[in-house]
Amino acid sequence: MTAIVREAAEAAAPASATRLRITEIFHSIQGEADAVGWPTVFVRLTGCPLRCTWCDTEYAFHGGQWRDLDTILAEVAGYGARHVCVTGGEPLAQKRCLALLARLCDAGYEVALETSGALDVSGVDRRVRKVMDLKAPGSGEAARNLWSNLEHLTPRDQVKCVLADRADYDWAVARLREHRLAERCTVLFSPVHGALAPRELAEWILADRLPVRFQLQLHKALWGDVPGR
Ligand code: SF4
Repeated sequence: MTAIVREAAEAAAPASATRLRITEIFHSIQGEADAVGWPTVFVRLTGCPLRCTWCDTEYAFHGGQWRDLDTILAEVAGYGARHVCVTGGEPLAQKRCLALLARLCDAGYEVALETSGALDVSGVDRRVRKVMDLKAPGSGEAARNLWSNLEHLTPRDQVKCVLADRADYDWAVARLREHRLAERCTVLFSPVHGALAPRELAEWILADRLPVRFQLQLHKALWGDVPGR
């Protein structure tokens, strides 16, 4: 859908059809993935159908406030940042997230989407950089991985494996090889904060000569594990 057609459709829609439930919008340093280090506006959508054992955003499961797209865009613009990250919760659990992503791209932002990998990403605007989890067994949600999503990844996207222990690591290495993930996009391996020692994971990656990118959550080093950062 072109921007003009989309704007006409939104103008004709009732106000409730262009609203999203939002937990928070805030300005911080991107702590993960390709855009790490960039000042970024985060739009955190409310709700998630998963319950990962190590989830650090449980406060986004419930509550939030209904906001229309124009209001969200205006608040994002107020921070004057070039990068915007749409996250959750699981943002794709709200269908109108797709319209938000497209509007942000139309407005000229560098847009990233953080998603669990459990919901279909085929409708996501191709200008968006997807950062898609593959849930390892330690998350308790490995059965939710929607493997068909791999077909919709491009070299701009990233697959992220958050690993709690050696069993998770071995699982991720097996999936890396089975699905030739590193040939599709950048693959990120990250330790569960407080569960797996970062140095241990780094040494496993080096010992196995893996074509993956190790990452720590920069925002937690800067501010600790607090909402809105
Ligand atoms: S998918 Fe993300 S928000 Fe949902 S439970 Fe897992 S870690 Fe938490």
